[in-house]
Amino acid sequence: MNIPKSVKILYKNYKIERREELHDGAEELYGQIQYLEEKILLREGVSVEQQEATLCHEMLHGLDDMYSIGLKEKQVEKLGNALYMLIRDNPEIFRQGGEKHGNINH
Ligand SMILES: [Zn+2]
Repeated sequence: MNIPKSVKILYKNYKIERREELHDGAEELYGQIQYLEEKILLREGVSVEQQEATLCHEMLHGLDDMYSIGLKEKQVEKLGNALYMLIRDNPEIFRQGGEKHGNINH
């Protein structure tokens, strides 16, 4: 998957920014979503896979917030990993113009 410059969730446009350090108190974070500032922060210097998985996690928080789903942190963790693996295992789902080469519409 690609990590874009921003992610649109309904009418919010979350800007994606990298940070050398990310903390919540004493806890080190891989990522953080800031609802009011409309920012998703990703920690620099970790693997691309970790950044992608973290982005999936933070996007789910964004969806949860926007659509008032009421997910618990544990659910976001599990769904985030599940969504990330689904995207990785099925890249053609999100590929533009994939139907020209694909076979589902024939
Ligand atoms: Zn979380």
